[in-house]
Amino acid sequence: MTDRTNPTEFSPSTLIRLERAEALCARLGGRMTQQRREILGLILDAETPVGAYDLLEKIKTPDRRPAPPTVYRALDFLLEHGLIHRIERLSAFVPCTHLMQDAPAHDPDHCHEHDHDTCLHTAQFLICRTCKAVTEIAESSVLSTLRDICRDQNFVMQGASVEVIGLCADCAAKARPARKAAHKQADPASS
Ligand SMILES: [Zn+2]
Ligand SMILES: [Zn+2]
Repeated sequence: MTDRTNPTEFSPSTLIRLERAEALCARLGGRMTQQRREILGLILDAETPVGAYDLLEKIKTPDRRPAPPTVYRALDFLLEHGLIHRIERLSAFVPCTHLMQDAPAHDPDHCHEHDHDTCLHTAQFLICRTCKAVTEIAESSVLSTLRDICRDQNFVMQGASVEVIGLCADCAAKARPARKAAHKQADPASS
């Protein structure tokens, strides 16, 4: 929690990612307004998923009190343009992983780049229950399995956000130091 006197002051890495987001928006025909940019910057700067209410609090200044719909509209825009994802389980938002990659190269496997309409609402997340870290995984086999199941059920799939709850590697290690030591000696197949 930093004291944010100037709400548009972001870390250098966030500024680079905002630039990337702006270029992506332009390619999709969207306009990155000051408000949208600020909301996205706050989500990028945060280490854990951010809720709409937290965002509202963060953009509030003594002489500026944006109304909740302003924030929701900005979030909708960012969601529609594949820049952020909503973690339903936490009612909070995370940046899409393709903004977080520091290499400018395209990841052809990442859903948002190639098949915008069908893949925008599909993503998979590993959510750590302890530290709230969210890792986005772009595993195409998960999606194709879900598609096959839906086809068999004659179900028209419109979105598929998979949220896996558990402990990240760090938190799992901290939670069970004794068992981890024991595992090292044990035969992995017998566990
Ligand atoms: Zn994504
Ligand atoms: Zn964790």
